[in-house]
Amino acid sequence: MVRLFGQMKRKKTFPVVIIGAGPAGLTAAYELSAHNCKSLVVEKDSKYVGGLAKTMRFKGFRFDIGGHRFFSKNREIENLWTEILGKEMLVKKRLSRIFYKKKFFDYPLKPLNALKNLGVWVSITVCLSYIWVRFFPIKNERSFEDWVTNRFGKKLYTIFFKNYTEKVWGIPAKEISADWAAQRIRGLSLKEVLINAFFGQKKEKEIIKTLTTRFRYPKLGPGMFWEKVKKIIETKSSQVLLGSEVISVNHDLKKVASLSVESNNRRVKFYGDHFISSMPLADLITCFNPEPPNQVLNAAKALKYRDFLIVVLIISKKQLFSDQWIYIHDPEVHVGRIQNFKNWSRFMVLKSEMTCLGLEYFCSSKDDLWNKTDDKIIEIAVKELEFLGLIDKTEVLSGKVIRVPKAYPVYDKEYLSRVNVIKNYLQNFKNLQVVGRNGMHKYNNQDHAMMTGLLAARNILGGTFNLWRINTDAEYAEEERITKTTGERLVPERLD
Ligand SMILES: Cc1cc2nc3c(=O)[nH]c(=O)nc-3n(C[C@H](O)[C@H](O)[C@H](O)COP(=O)(O)OP(=O)(O)OC[C@H]3O[C@@H](n4cnc5c(N)ncnc54)[C@H](O)[C@@H]3O)c2cc1C
Repeated sequence: MVRLFGQMKRKKTFPVVIIGAGPAGLTAAYELSAHNCKSLVVEKDSKYVGGLAKTMRFKGFRFDIGGHRFFSKNREIENLWTEILGKEMLVKKRLSRIFYKKKFFDYPLKPLNALKNLGVWVSITVCLSYIWVRFFPIKNERSFEDWVTNRFGKKLYTIFFKNYTEKVWGIPAKEISADWAAQRIRGLSLKEVLINAFFGQKKEKEIIKTLTTRFRYPKLGPGMFWEKVKKIIETKSSQVLLGSEVISVNHDLKKVASLSVESNNRRVKFYGDHFISSMPLADLITCFNPEPPNQVLNAAKALKYRDFLIVVLIISKKQLFSDQWIYIHDPEVHVGRIQNFKNWSRFMVLKSEMTCLGLEYFCSSKDDLWNKTDDKIIEIAVKELEFLGLIDKTEVLSGKVIRVPKAYPVYDKEYLSRVNVIKNYLQNFKNLQVVGRNGMHKYNNQDHAMMTGLLAARNILGGTFNLWRINTDAEYAEEERITKTTGERLVPERLD
């Protein structure tokens, strides 16, 4: 640190300055250090590296910002995970069921399991509502609700589609466009589900193929991987500066010259030959000094994000359920998913007779919930867990609330044109590359973020990769399916 500020006093420039010690930024630094190119990584978090893929600690327990599966179609990324963590990477069999009315439903849904769990009467209403819709389908399918109801009947739609979709996206299902359902639930209907269940047609195999049934996971969570990467790059004379927030990107219209950074209540300037940014694209543009043209600034300010809040609870019970996470479909509670970190890795919990849960709330920083006190949020979370029948409140030992702004970049109708405006403007700056999820406003997983970091580093080392053209092949298909046409992950659109 002393050496670093000594260098700065002499206004020594760094070969590469990287904004953000998340997967994209650290992968770039790792690749550069492997080629003896020094870099400085500037990270605003004062304690953790790994960005959204960090693992936090609370009273000796570890938890992620949502569980992070390590799975990639990209061999190079898979090999990198092995190279760095070797045997410390566990292989996990995925178990993540739907929890509804105190029952566990297989995911993807299996008709016999679903009907058995729903009971005779509800199953009869499911069948009747399906028969009804076959005779009297909704004529002009406009919304997600219309589309799914026509194929599954109103009752099944309400139980298995409406509530969870509304929790995740915060948009009434009536207002989500039907196209999204058509892409997401591609070619499926109750009839086909039943045929597949009884006659095992290949369609079901396809459906199951879209779910990753096995994945890898570091023994101590994804943060373990990123801590190790940090150590490796530091042994190669690169540096990661925590608690340092970029507040200004200083440029001369052609090149970025330096970053102004607020670090431990001091303002410092870091000069560089090359810059890589993984901070949210909107924030990067608003940090530009001098300011970009209004059109660019407005495009940046109009980019949208969905926020996320996780309530971590330590429970004095050995086992609550065996899934890594469960989807909560009951409409009476706001919680969308519940992570059970000991089922990701038993090393995540301090004591094996205890459990550490993460209750995930998809929300916006403007929502009531977000703005309540931590104590109040914990109280709500405990009440919801009790309502679901998963715990007794006396079993809760401790709780912690983590607010995650900008967890999901949102693809609304205008996002692509806005990103293009910004992209065109950034082309003026030959020594700046943007990488990663929020860095490029791409709703992708860490393997994609890592790939962009890797190739940005290779560009500095002489390569000519177009980072915007890295598609989601580095991505795995899961419940948020990927469109064939754009290669992007799907996000619902609101009806006009
Ligand atoms: C709930 C949830 C579950 C997920 N599950 C999975 C999963 O199972 N598998 C998977 O592969 N991926 C998963 N992801 C996605 C994964 O977390 C991201 O793709 C990945 O973290 C993106 O890496 P990044 O480096 O681009 O961005 P980030 O992880 O966002 O890192 C950016 C870094 O930049 C820092 N920063 C921001 N602004 C500044 C500034 N002004 N100055 C300095 N530093 C700054 C941030 O603090 C952060 O550390 C999940 C994401 C979420 C939200």
